[in-house]
Amino acid sequence: MIPRSSEPPRVFRDALLVTQDPARRIVRGDVRVEGGRFTHVDPHAPREGAEVVDAHDRAIVPGFVNLHTHVAMHPLRGIADDRELAGFLETLFAVDAHRTEADVEAGARAGIAEMLLGGTTSFLDLYYFEDAVARAVEALGIRGFLGWAVLDPEMTTQKGRPLDNARSFIERWKSSSRVTPLVAPQGVYVCGRETWLGARDLAQTAGTLVHYHLSETRREVHEHETRTGRRPVDWLEEIGFLGPGQVAAHAVWLTSQEIQLLGAHHVGIAHCASSNLKLASGGVAPIVELKNAGATIGIGTDSVASNNSLSMLREMHLAGLVQKNHRWDARALPAQELLDLATIEGARALGRDREIGSIEVGKRADFLLVDLHHPTLTPARPEAIVSHLAYAASDEAIESVYVDGTAVVERRRLVRGDWDEIRTRLEGAADTLWSARPK
Ligand SMILES: [Zn+2]
Repeated sequence: MIPRSSEPPRVFRDALLVTQDPARRIVRGDVRVEGGRFTHVDPHAPREGAEVVDAHDRAIVPGFVNLHTHVAMHPLRGIADDRELAGFLETLFAVDAHRTEADVEAGARAGIAEMLLGGTTSFLDLYYFEDAVARAVEALGIRGFLGWAVLDPEMTTQKGRPLDNARSFIERWKSSSRVTPLVAPQGVYVCGRETWLGARDLAQTAGTLVHYHLSETRREVHEHETRTGRRPVDWLEEIGFLGPGQVAAHAVWLTSQEIQLLGAHHVGIAHCASSNLKLASGGVAPIVELKNAGATIGIGTDSVASNNSLSMLREMHLAGLVQKNHRWDARALPAQELLDLATIEGARALGRDREIGSIEVGKRADFLLVDLHHPTLTPARPEAIVSHLAYAASDEAIESVYVDGTAVVERRRLVRGDWDEIRTRLEGAADTLWSARPK
């Protein structure tokens, strides 16, 4: 458990506050953190009983929400570069068959370390052996929304029925403070009607989210249409699957009718620009149209096998540029919206916008201290800070990271884990997995 009560109250004094509150205020002031939450966001917060931290040269920014990844794939970075999705998946499925729970945990620890050092404080994951990922989440102190992957029983290497495995995973972790368990259908190419509806029923009974891949490539859409006579979103609507409390990753190949359906059901969308570009999914996810239709959009890195980075700063930058260029409109997806997607909108897609995603009194204190003296943050003007975060800032400028008011990164070092130890275990896992790579 997290020793939250033993943390002293802290006041971060005279920082540049990028609040991401409803008015998107950017002000100089103090933040007081107590009992894991923000208790004051003011020009001058009371200092009684508090440790005071001078934050004059720092911006305080909400922690990032990475809305789609497979964090445990860390040993597989670079293993299947420069090939299209079908070939990429073929390599990954071949290697996946050799994965053990121990190397999933080693991969998850390395991936979480990379995410924390890049300012991610919450992430949404889709994988199996999620107990190992959950242990890594609790060890390193990030906030994990962990989706147990479900597939049709004949399509999986999981022992037992995937839906039963997901159900017992949710049962085991539902009272953890940092882990939020959920169910995650892999995609229409390995999940039939029973699996989708089983996942929906499980989520409704257990009160969890559903996370899934959706319409990532034309081939996936075409094959589904050939098999069922319907495009994936139309088909998910027809079988009665679509509804609130869902986050779909990718959503690249959609008709305007499908966009309207996703919007009407308020489905959350994890936009994964790097992954789509690198795997040459073709086209560009219709983010602006989805947003206008009522969908909540966030940003996902996808895994290090398809990105190959877990940096949310890098992802924001790229997502903005791609939309602008594709639409011939430099005004599309401006800096403020990009930062929204990476923070409060990602939190909204997870149904947690009342708890996380902004610097506001009463919310959980998940935040970053960003070094305003770093070369990528200058000129450090309040008018430019959002632009710097969206288009210029390097992960190296993120000095410290807090989750629930507790430091998890301090001066660019992990607080609750030793990187050398994490790295050594990761390299050991990679040695085994890379030798299983098909030639
Ligand atoms: Zn994915």
